[in-house]
Amino acid sequence: MRSAVPRALRRAAGRPLGGPGALPTTLQGSRRIAFTKTRGPNPLFFYSGARLSSSTAVQPDHDPERQWSTPLAKQLAEAISATGPVPLASFMRMCLTADVGGYYTGAIEDGRDQFGLKGDFVTSPEISQAFGELVGIWFVAEWMAQGRQTTGVELIEVGPGRGTLMDDMLRTIQNFPAMANSIDAVYMVEASPKLREAQKALLCGPDATMTESKVGYHSICKYMSVPIVWTDTIKSIPNSADKMPLIVAHEFFDALPIHAFQCVDVPATQSHPPEDGDKSSPSSKTSQPTRQWRELLVSPTPPGSNHESLNTPASQSRDTPPPDFQLTVAKAPTRHALYLPESSPRYRGIKSRVGPGALIEICPDAALYAGDFAARIGGSAKHPKPKPCGAALILDYGPGDGSVPTNSLRGIRRHRRVSPFAEPGLTDLSADVDFAGIAESALKASEGVEVHGPVEQAAFLLSMGIQERAEQLVLAAAAKGKDKDGDDGRYAEDVERAWKRLVDRGPGGMGKVYKALAILPENEGRRRPVGFGGDVDV
Ligand code: SAH
Repeated sequence: MRSAVPRALRRAAGRPLGGPGALPTTLQGSRRIAFTKTRGPNPLFFYSGARLSSSTAVQPDHDPERQWSTPLAKQLAEAISATGPVPLASFMRMCLTADVGGYYTGAIEDGRDQFGLKGDFVTSPEISQAFGELVGIWFVAEWMAQGRQTTGVELIEVGPGRGTLMDDMLRTIQNFPAMANSIDAVYMVEASPKLREAQKALLCGPDATMTESKVGYHSICKYMSVPIVWTDTIKSIPNSADKMPLIVAHEFFDALPIHAFQCVDVPATQSHPPEDGDKSSPSSKTSQPTRQWRELLVSPTPPGSNHESLNTPASQSRDTPPPDFQLTVAKAPTRHALYLPESSPRYRGIKSRVGPGALIEICPDAALYAGDFAARIGGSAKHPKPKPCGAALILDYGPGDGSVPTNSLRGIRRHRRVSPFAEPGLTDLSADVDFAGIAESALKASEGVEVHGPVEQAAFLLSMGIQERAEQLVLAAAAKGKDKDGDDGRYAEDVERAWKRLVDRGPGGMGKVYKALAILPENEGRRRPVGFGGDVDV
């Protein structure tokens, strides 16, 4: 595929030759899609690592002697014994971002790093610098296509990890002085204090000071001297009509908590007349059989469980202690079961098409974030925007065919697939992203936006010129007289392996599994963005 990005733009991508990042040899794919799913005859086995049980069968665990695999597991079990089984979303939220012991936010193991060879997973920006550079170029192209605004540009990243993507983007954008000068501020939405520190060290320098305000934490970027502001949530970033928000989300949506529902057929029930002998009421009432969504709830596994008794699937490593928790089907409709699967025509249609036992996952936080992005770009009733401007680029994994994710919750630890209910707080949890749901939420939140994609990451990166960029990196290293590591040929090989991995379209390959989706100002679809089938005018 020919790149749609003119040479001049690609050339101007970041200059210094960063390494392509450590490539774990144990992993073929990336991060949390590293493993091909193997489904047992009953998909529920895959989900929980144990047969789903009815919530009636689950006894809250009161055994004070029971050993929990992590302090967070103990805390969760105590909470569940007080309240009863909790929605999967509550469990995920605690596991990922609880103040004490959350995977991203807690500090159970000192010096723990989620990323890289010694961590749990590796992400695209960590694999090749070309990834972040091309994302930077994508935003430069949008800034140009939307009239080269001279002030008011805001770069916003949600879930920035180590800060590598933003670093590669800023280094690239720096080469376009008119755009660089238009940037008012960089915003980083990050739940983890440790990662916030790592991002500050990378983007501002290890000795740069960070100050705290009501909005968040502030420092000054080493590129272009613009302010960088860290917030916990996107809601803390002011939304004003004269700003041009350029928003990137890479592997952020997959970390947002999901609710899971199972379709059940509820038989007809008979109710008897009240015993006070009220003659006006019929002698008995029969309700029609109905098909309903029932929420999957999390509760402790029975004391003494082991991987065998819980049927931990062969696809999940048993190197962890047995899962502390399991999924159960709620006995009666929960508030979320009554509301979420009815919240859009797309979800409403599913119940009549699928049979009992079918599962769906819905992520209300994804709808909130997508709606927020759209409102910032296109304006909304609450924040009208006379002239929509800005762009959001969402890169993640999930179905690209419009289907609603099902059965996709996964746990990853040290580059291996594990039960999502093992070692809460030490295990990374993620789920497929519902791209069609994101598109729907964006369009619902603002009349001023349109959505492009999702397209496969391979198509996006190839049309952005990843091959050409990789060749430049190798040539630039050669022009310096030697391989970057002083080891002739190794650097070229590493660069090549890295970019090819990002566009690999083989089974489970990152180029196929990962997708890109763009939210742009409404333009009646007349201008397709670069990377999504469009060209750029320079
Ligand atoms: N984009 C990075 C990191 C992906 S990991 C990369 O591709 O390398 C997910 C990131 O989102 C981490 O930085 C994590 O701390 C952050 N995160 C997860 N849940 C979050 C939440 N609810 N709010 C804000 N940040 C969150």
